[in-house]
Amino acid sequence: MREVDIDAVSLDRLGSLLAPERAARLARYVERARELLAGRTVWNVNATAQGGGVAEMLQFLLAYTKGAGVETRWLVLDGDPAFFAITKRLHNLLHGMAGDGGPLGVAEQRHYSEVLTRNHDRLESMVRPGDIVLLHDPQTAGLAGMLRGTGAHLVWRCHIGRDEPTELTEIGWTFLRPHLEAADAFIFSRRAYAPAWLPDDRLWVIPPSLDPFSAKNTELSPADVDAALREASLVNTSQDHGSLRFTRRNGAPGTVRGHRRLVLDGAPVTRGARLVLQVSRWDRLKDMGGVLRGFAEHVDDLPPDVHLMLVGPDVQGVSDDPEGAEVLAEVRGLWQALPARRRSRVHLACLPMDDIDENAHLVNCLQRRAAVVVQKSLVEGFGLTVTEPMWKAKPVVASAVGGIQDQIIDGESGLLLRDPTDLDSFAKRLQDVLVDEEYARRLGTAARSRVRDLYLGDRHLTQYVDLFEQLYQ
Ligand code: UDP
Repeated sequence: MREVDIDAVSLDRLGSLLAPERAARLARYVERARELLAGRTVWNVNATAQGGGVAEMLQFLLAYTKGAGVETRWLVLDGDPAFFAITKRLHNLLHGMAGDGGPLGVAEQRHYSEVLTRNHDRLESMVRPGDIVLLHDPQTAGLAGMLRGTGAHLVWRCHIGRDEPTELTEIGWTFLRPHLEAADAFIFSRRAYAPAWLPDDRLWVIPPSLDPFSAKNTELSPADVDAALREASLVNTSQDHGSLRFTRRNGAPGTVRGHRRLVLDGAPVTRGARLVLQVSRWDRLKDMGGVLRGFAEHVDDLPPDVHLMLVGPDVQGVSDDPEGAEVLAEVRGLWQALPARRRSRVHLACLPMDDIDENAHLVNCLQRRAAVVVQKSLVEGFGLTVTEPMWKAKPVVASAVGGIQDQIIDGESGLLLRDPTDLDSFAKRLQDVLVDEEYARRLGTAARSRVRDLYLGDRHLTQYVDLFEQLYQ
């Protein structure tokens, strides 16, 4: 098990974005948390410190918790490939997907428990009675039973789920159930994701939140956005690249890095073009191929200045994500098969993953540059790729699946696709926002308000304090 350093960040920063009474409420909660947790530690355990929505969220939430004066620690599991194959299987099953279809029998239970027992030894030596241990996702569920004797309060948080149980979700839950009985509380992003056998009085619904100050969400001026995208060769201009200046809105100089190693199919987007954007991992459930087909098949119904950009991580040569490379190859195949006239309106880009900050910065720029952001997922626990552009006041067209149904009110704070596989309605929704800029602006403004109301860190942290209070009663 590896400990991740947490930089304390003051909550004043977040408070500065909130209305006075809401900031005051947050301050009261901070006081309560300090009293409640004095002399105690809040431990978080998950599978990775970088990459993916959970790590992204822990980074800022734990920084705020520590900044609020609560002793907070973050540990990341050690596992081997066989362990992560089992937990990826569980991940897919809880989404209702078959994944690799591999077994989850006695041998897998044994290996899962063996790996967690090794991790548990270190954790057990540090956790004290009265501490709180937050275990995230299926990878850590088995630690709940092992930590029972420590006198700590055990909470398991599941960041994934499916609206309706299926035979596949049942297989996943059958594997996890014996491990979870020791937990004092459970957290899900939606009520519908919790299996029926979990006791209601130990169940909490806490959706994710977004950090407005992270590299991915921080305010950027249009000039900075243009400069970064030009320098990354994602958007073309006739200007001389050498004369690039990069100044953030607060006046501080931005870092301009030279070599970005972007993989781009298609020319850079031309300067005046309006952009339809989907940013996702190369995962079949994100349906990048469906977005490409829906756009390309209806390109003549859309205004002539509109281009599509599909953006994901650079997965080439990354051996631990064979599915990502496969899906990217499929999408590239679809792109190559397009008639030249349509192909010139579609761009595929892979962003570097070796520098998470830079990746996030480019995602930020692309989301800010986009005219419409799309998330046409077939299944989605909760889409951070929906919350992020909403916060940037963009109109979002997204599938009415999973948490997205809570995130967007259809026709008010974005547009929902009732059937994500219906490409005609998808194109129609795109057209609706692309031909009516006033409508697009209204949707975007309402989207930002919705994120401010529901998906910022204060809502998230105060829910945690309520939960902790219940645990100590
Ligand atoms: N993301 C990124 N670079 C990429 C693709 C995705 O930074 O090339 C980010 C995206 O901005 C979001 C997160 O990865 O913050 C994905 O979270 P989401 O909840 O949308 O989906 P998940 O990948 O967890 O299924």
